[in-house]
Amino acid sequence: MKIRRLSLIDFELTFKAPLVTAHGLLNLRKGIIICAKTDDGCSGIGEISPLDGFNRESRSRAKQSAQEVAGYLDNAELPVDPEGLIQILGDLEDRLSAPPSVIFGFEMLLGDLAGKKAELPLSTWYCNNPLRNVAVNAILAGSPEDIQGQLAQKAARHFRAYKIKIEAGGIEPAIQKIKTVRDRVADDVMIRLDLNRGLDLNEAVDLLNEIKGFGIEYVEEPLKEPTSHDMIALREETGLRIALDETVAETDRFHDLLENKACDVIVLKPMMLGGINKSVKLSRMAAEQGLKTVLTSTLESGIGVTACLHAAAMLGHHVLACGLDTLDLFQDSIINEDLPIISGRMNVPQRPGLGVSLRPSLIPSTI
Ligand SMILES: [Mg+2]
Repeated sequence: MKIRRLSLIDFELTFKAPLVTAHGLLNLRKGIIICAKTDDGCSGIGEISPLDGFNRESRSRAKQSAQEVAGYLDNAELPVDPEGLIQILGDLEDRLSAPPSVIFGFEMLLGDLAGKKAELPLSTWYCNNPLRNVAVNAILAGSPEDIQGQLAQKAARHFRAYKIKIEAGGIEPAIQKIKTVRDRVADDVMIRLDLNRGLDLNEAVDLLNEIKGFGIEYVEEPLKEPTSHDMIALREETGLRIALDETVAETDRFHDLLENKACDVIVLKPMMLGGINKSVKLSRMAAEQGLKTVLTSTLESGIGVTACLHAAAMLGHHVLACGLDTLDLFQDSIINEDLPIISGRMNVPQRPGLGVSLRPSLIPSTI
């Protein structure tokens, strides 16, 4: 079966409210959808959405690369098994220097087509016995009053883990936010903190010792300078588990922390790391050292989030509640399906391929 008629479509989604990230305020999420048909009429989709400040490649660089890859794959044979797909992705990286977001986008597209051909959901096509549903966490941010409102909105979905974003502003406001959540959720609901490298070692020891009795699952990126020495000291002085997020992309530092057993959880973003296969490999390598994985979206549209959901399903018991509750942040959706969260878990679509489809208004007339 040959791949034909590849096309790229720019899209943008508007956030319901401007989103604060580690790299500034976001009003719009822009990205590129890839569509293709096979010579026997099967159609597939993928998404390339590098995020400014997070991905090294810009959207224009990614689009240029995607056009090159589309030319390379036009009339190529569709991979028949995961090894074939991984071989093609390796070629895109080695021969065409395709950046991570482009590799992920074409992995989605080819996996969507190959899964449809095999009549299997993408995660089942890619590995044995993936999870059928994945636990997800809800994100809370802003003032204690904002957080109260967000908790009320999210109550019906019965999350088992809440992640609180702690912005700069001192230890006392941070403690107030954490108390606000602890007072309002069941005792066995876990709280995780994301400090976005906000504290030095002494500040982190002070904060974490104040809140370590509050059912804290782990603390993400606590230190401005995440050295192995300081991470180990922080864990010894507080007894809390430590997660790495942005550090995972800093290869030398990440491997140093891993070798020194200075972290407990890794947060993986397929759009930044180069896709599902790479994320799964990294997670398995970390699992050999006893680390758990949290897989998160990079604020993609429903196509990218669905691909992340399939990736999370492939991690089996190494995966903790994932950061996939991000589609509600947008005013609109580019897919027809919902990805509802029930009892804190997201069901992995069980239709062949990705299991989601593009809204008709977005499908190019040439496809
Ligand atoms: Mg983070």
